[in-house]
Amino acid sequence: MKYLLHAHYTAGGIVQAIKGLYSLQDALQEAGVKVGRNKKALCLWHSDRSPSMHVYRDKVHCFACGRGGDAIDVYAAANGMETKDAVQALAARFGFQSGAPPSVRRRWAMQQHQARKERQQAHDIEAAYYGLCSLLHGLRQSMADTLPEPAALDDEEARAQAGKIAAVITDVEAVLDELGSEEEERKRQALYLAHERGLIG
Ligand SMILES: [Zn+2]
Repeated sequence: MKYLLHAHYTAGGIVQAIKGLYSLQDALQEAGVKVGRNKKALCLWHSDRSPSMHVYRDKVHCFACGRGGDAIDVYAAANGMETKDAVQALAARFGFQSGAPPSVRRRWAMQQHQARKERQQAHDIEAAYYGLCSLLHGLRQSMADTLPEPAALDDEEARAQAGKIAAVITDVEAVLDELGSEEEERKRQALYLAHERGLIG
């Protein structure tokens, strides 16, 4: 009994477990059914004047109305319930729980969490890729503005500025290469790097 408490069962397993603890005799007794020496009793399913429900070892059957069943069906009939509700009521009484055990639910929750994280990351990588493409476009534009013609190389300030822009362009191109890679790990590293270097917000 102690072993069964709080164990987890499939629907069919719960029915079996209930039957192991709740006999037909328990159900009949609880329902107030008086069983005669001839193993007959008043039917639980129809308005019976003379006992027409036969009581067997683990089920009953009424030869007048044709209905009957096991301990759970008797409990259901006595309480005016559907069988499935009787199963729930008895399962609750005996402390059975349906569904997957906690370890399985936990694993499932972790997988869900992981999947969400991966979807979010894929989205971030894509957003970073387009963001950097746009940044690269802007950088090339500034480069062209800074050094409109080779003669501008004589301007030391312009040269220094162009050098800075060129360095960022190199960085962005390298990160873009990685973001466009086929390997998830390389993409993740690139995303991290892009944040680290302040290339994306
Ligand atoms: Zn009957």
